[in-house]
Amino acid sequence: MTRLYARLVPLLAALAMIATPSLAQARRDSLDPTAALLVELIRINTSNPPGNEGSVAALLAPRFKALGFETEIIPTPEPGKAHLIARLRGNGSKRPILLAAHTDVVGVEREKWSVDPFAGIVKDGAVMGRGAIDFKGGIAVFARAAMMLAERKVPLDRDVIVLVEADEEGGKYGTSWLARDHWSQIACEFALNEGGWIITGDGGAVRYVSISTADKGGAQLIVSAAGTSTHSSMPLKDNAIFALSRAMARIAEYETPVTRSRDQQGSAAARDHADDHRPGISQRGLP
Ligand SMILES: [Zn+2]
Repeated sequence: MTRLYARLVPLLAALAMIATPSLAQARRDSLDPTAALLVELIRINTSNPPGNEGSVAALLAPRFKALGFETEIIPTPEPGKAHLIARLRGNGSKRPILLAAHTDVVGVEREKWSVDPFAGIVKDGAVMGRGAIDFKGGIAVFARAAMMLAERKVPLDRDVIVLVEADEEGGKYGTSWLARDHWSQIACEFALNEGGWIITGDGGAVRYVSISTADKGGAQLIVSAAGTSTHSSMPLKDNAIFALSRAMARIAEYETPVTRSRDQQGSAAARDHADDHRPGISQRGLP
């Protein structure tokens, strides 16, 4: 949690930079609208399973609609689980941009939290709670940024689509499911979603911007073994459990080879030129 809090502060600095002119000013008066929205989102428990993402869709849809967005809640076959698509129309001369963020969060081990993870507590200039970083903070930023375009009647060449997703942390009705039948509603020229950081220093000056262009993927495996079954007092060499244990041990010890993509090399070079307050690990000396 300590680490989570430490990371939350820069995120809020980023929120302030993206979505509001001055969070510090707003803090003195009342909570910044983006931070206030984040508090509301955290207070909706969307631990997945079951997710309950439809509650977030129901909260946000009327707010988008009131500002002129076309909104659509896409229910999934699982009750209470839904995606929200909110589209702010541009003049159509360019293809849309998609801002996509997931609203489900992973479960909590409450005994390890020093605050109520679903209370949306504001403390020491930060909003604390499950999903503050991953990824309700992102929803709040994307939603408020798009809403501000509508509030200020900014002329747009392209539609801005906000997608509030279900089932990113697990489950089977995530964006792959959504894309199968609803591609036309989310088709875009490019999309922004989770990943990367904007870190600001004293006075709000931007010190570091990172963009994540890819993520490590997962591989789900079913490992099976066959052997001779015997009484437990007489295990045979071809015992299936032993074979599985050896396989698990090999998987546990496997080290993924380090490879450097062109993007990663560029990122490493940029980090090495950043000032010495850069977050993360210097990649000098990597092959
Ligand atoms: Zn996430």
